[in-house]
Amino acid sequence: MTELAYMDDCYAKELDATVTAAEGNNLELDRTIFCPQAGGVECDKGTMGCGETAYNVVFVKKDKGRVLHQLEMPGLKLGDRVHLSLDWDRRYLLMRYHTSAHLISGIFAKDLGAKITGNSLTTEKGRIDFDLESFDRALIEQCFDKARELIKKDLPIDIYSLPRSDVESKPEMVKLAMGLPPNIKVLRIVDIKGFDAQPDGGCHVKSLGEVGEIKFLSADNKGKSNRRVYYRLR
Ligand SMILES: [Zn+2]
Repeated sequence: MTELAYMDDCYAKELDATVTAAEGNNLELDRTIFCPQAGGVECDKGTMGCGETAYNVVFVKKDKGRVLHQLEMPGLKLGDRVHLSLDWDRRYLLMRYHTSAHLISGIFAKDLGAKITGNSLTTEKGRIDFDLESFDRALIEQCFDKARELIKKDLPIDIYSLPRSDVESKPEMVKLAMGLPPNIKVLRIVDIKGFDAQPDGGCHVKSLGEVGEIKFLSADNKGKSNRRVYYRLR
């Protein structure tokens, strides 16, 4: 199993690691700072250096619990020592988008009673899909205003682990444990202090102020109660 160093330190930009499996251009490592594509969030990119050569990491995916790093060209083999460097501008922007999506989804859920059905976060824009009977653009814009207020308050974001039993014994947190595979005994919680806590395996900024400016782009009607919003960070 690869040690997922990005879960403990979302701000680590470099790391030394060892290749534990090599299948063509796809490598598995003993540990990594590259966050794979998951939960609608694009993957990290960067380089894997070995000796004089820097290999571009072009895609990172989860495959049956393994994290596979896809390189632009072959050349690395089992046992090679490598130096990982993230494309930090890309990662940091994706972290800001990921935290912003928790914030906006949380507001849709709390204030509108909407059920979040999906999201897609790239370095270009964020998309959130939700289920809501009414389609009121003014209400949606109000949610974005509220997001801006909370960003101004600069709420801290804590990441910590909780035993599943603790989560299941607290009524306000029960929803967090639902829908998770029963074999997960410890949950990693991403907690926007005083606003929203949920289990999450991704990378987030340390405080809401880092999300910065949110620009609401558009709201689409995707059928009976299917809504979709797009926004951009600046
Ligand atoms: Zn998330």
